[in-house]
Amino acid sequence: RDDGTFLNVARLHAGYRAGRVLHGVDLGVAEGEICAILGPNGAGKTTLLRALCGMIRTEGVLRLAGADLPRRRPEAVARLGVAHVPEGRGTFAPLTVEENLRLGAYTRRGRTRIAADIDRVYGYFPVLKERRAQAAGSLSGGEQQMVAIGRALMSRPRLILLDEPSLGLAPLVTRELFHIVKTVNEEERTTVILVEQNAHLTLEFAHRAHVLETGRIVLSGSAQEIRDDEQTARAYLGIG
Ligand code: ATP
Repeated sequence: RDDGTFLNVARLHAGYRAGRVLHGVDLGVAEGEICAILGPNGAGKTTLLRALCGMIRTEGVLRLAGADLPRRRPEAVARLGVAHVPEGRGTFAPLTVEENLRLGAYTRRGRTRIAADIDRVYGYFPVLKERRAQAAGSLSGGEQQMVAIGRALMSRPRLILLDEPSLGLAPLVTRELFHIVKTVNEEERTTVILVEQNAHLTLEFAHRAHVLETGRIVLSGSAQEIRDDEQTARAYLGIG
């Protein structure tokens, strides 16, 4: 059964040898939406993204645009247009900014188009153009996060999974980063799943939000609804 949502997750169970982490996650994401996944440390947010991108064993429904997502085959998932920006960024420190971006185009062919996409990424992140020949490891944390997101954009994803991009960044830098993500979302209609602990700022940029707690979604709504409901904000997010 398919309800027409772009990303359809139902009764999703997943975890590790050491134990299950997700206990029946249900989640629907519309195309073009910025969807925030909020929740405390250890709730399973990172695990949910790993399940979506085919890194770990899963049970349950995982469908993208009406088709089953391949299981345990991250490359096949990437080819379907899912780009994962893992926690800690995963940029290659000794490689230059531009080399890192090129790595993001590994699923694609065509020099001219790849060159055009590098320019497109520099359009979103002008500072990366200035630093194109610099080793990624020599950049600031915020710039490295830009490289990681830029690299993901090189695959022209339909869905981008961002795992705590704000980690270790100053609030102003995070805000700038979220602005750019929003611009990409608006200009390219890229669907975004944004995992964050920083609920306050995230709810300014997301369209909808879901709160994950001990492996289950305990609350879903528009970002506005969740922001405006002080009780929920206090109970689930420690804000308000
Ligand atoms: P955080 O913000 O701390 O990353 P999270 O909500 O993203 O929290 P997860 O990283 O998904 O949570 O972790 C959920 C649970 O899974 C935790 O108990 C964690 O110890 C466990 N876990 C995470 N990765 C692994 C792994 N590779 N092997 C075994 N257990 C893991």
